[in-house]
Order: sequence, then structure tokens, then C-alpha cells
Amino acid sequence: MRERDHIRIGNAVINAYGAMIAPVSSDVLQGFRDGSILPDNEKPYRTAAHHHSRELDIVWLITRGRQEFLNNNLGLSAKYLGAAFHFIADGTCPSTKDGATVHRVWEQKVSKIRLPDMPAGGTKFEIRTPSQLSKLTFSKTSANPEASITNSINMCYAILELAWRPLDRLTAEEQLSISKAKAVMPSKSSKFISNIIGVLCLALFFGSIIVTSRGYSPWFFIGMLPFPLYSVAYLYSESREKKAKFLNEWYRFSK
Ligand SMILES: [Zn+2]
Repeated sequence: MRERDHIRIGNAVINAYGAMIAPVSSDVLQGFRDGSILPDNEKPYRTAAHHHSRELDIVWLITRGRQEFLNNNLGLSAKYLGAAFHFIADGTCPSTKDGATVHRVWEQKVSKIRLPDMPAGGTKFEIRTPSQLSKLTFSKTSANPEASITNSINMCYAILELAWRPLDRLTAEEQLSISKAKAVMPSKSSKFISNIIGVLCLALFFGSIIVTSRGYSPWFFIGMLPFPLYSVAYLYSESREKKAKFLNEWYRFSK
């Protein structure tokens, strides 16, 4: 998508958002502008001129945008979010693999579209918790550029609203996910102990395989079976903790 259109989309989103809250500072506008065109101009993103399948980059950028919001660096936060919006908008554009002409015609159509007026206070599309980010399909290509762009703008607005939600104005869903995440965040000492037990269990289990394979009683192997079960439980709790850590980046409920 063309640079000018990326900037237009960013502006439409931030203007609708600004209509809802205090006036948007020039820092923030400049941040969005820089971010909106950054992926086409800077490494490492520049390698692919048109950007598809960037779900991981998008979630990473949004998370960084959130962190800078919490650090009170709104300009830098806007830059990260602007770059995320770039990938979302590019994702709606048919790939050059579908044919260079299809791609070019689509881009030309987009540049002639009058962007929809956003209702003050945004759209009905809502992202209730940051955990939903990893489940979203950020953009789908569509033969109808107008519909695609409207979808992108709505999604970007919802992202901005989520990323810039102050800690004292969280939704009920967010508060619930924080209390769940707090419950699985381990203390440093309990993590240390469970790491040691986890390694011991794995060592015992593999040791029992070796001993049994050398002709010792299979009962030895069977007796060791609880240990791999512990390892499975350990891996499961690791994945829950990973989610909790992500939410901690978002809400900073523990230092
Ligand atoms: Zn691009």
C-alpha cells in the first residue's frame, strides 16, 4: 500500500480517538506518521515491500506500544502502534503473488477511497483483553478495498483503545484476567525449586530407561513413571506462566 494511504489510515484512527479524549499532541501525531511508514523504509522490515502474515510482528509492536504508553512516552508508543497499523493495512492488500496488476489496481483504488467518517468514540469493534490479540486474524484480503480499509480502521481503533487504556480504567474482563494471572505468577524461590525438581525428574526418568534397557527389571521403569508426569505438569505450568508474564507486561501488576 502507498505511503500516503498508510498515513491517512493512521490519521483517521488517531483523529477519532482524539475526538474522544484530550486533544492529541503533535508528538503523538508525528509518532503515528513515522510509525505508519517505518516498515517500508527501515530494516529489518524493508526486505518485503508489501507485508503479509505479520501476526507476530503486529502483537510485538502493540505490546511495545503499550509499554511505552505505561512509561508515559506517548510519541514513541504512537510510533510502534503506527507500524502495527501499517502491517494490518498491508495485509488487506492482494499480494503481488496474485499478479502485479491485481495488486496495483487495488492500491490505486485505495488511494481514491474517501475514508469513512468514524463515529466519535470509535466503533463497535472491541478487543476486551490483550490475550485476544494472539487469536485475532488481523487482516484479510478482499476484492472490495473499501470494505477492507473500513475493517482495518475499525481494528486499529480497537487496538489503540486497548493499548492506551489507563490502569485505573480497566474493564471488568481485564481485572478478572489480572487476578487469574497473579495466581499463576510464581515467586522467584518457588520457581527455583520447581526448576530443580523438574530437571531431577527428567534425569531420573531417562536414567530408568537406560537401566531398564540394560536388562534390569521393567518394574524399575514403571516405578519411575510419575516423574515424566511431573515433567508434563511442569511444562503446562510453564505455558500458563508465559501467558501471565505477557499480561504482566501489559498491566504491571508485579515488579
Ligand atoms: Zn508495507
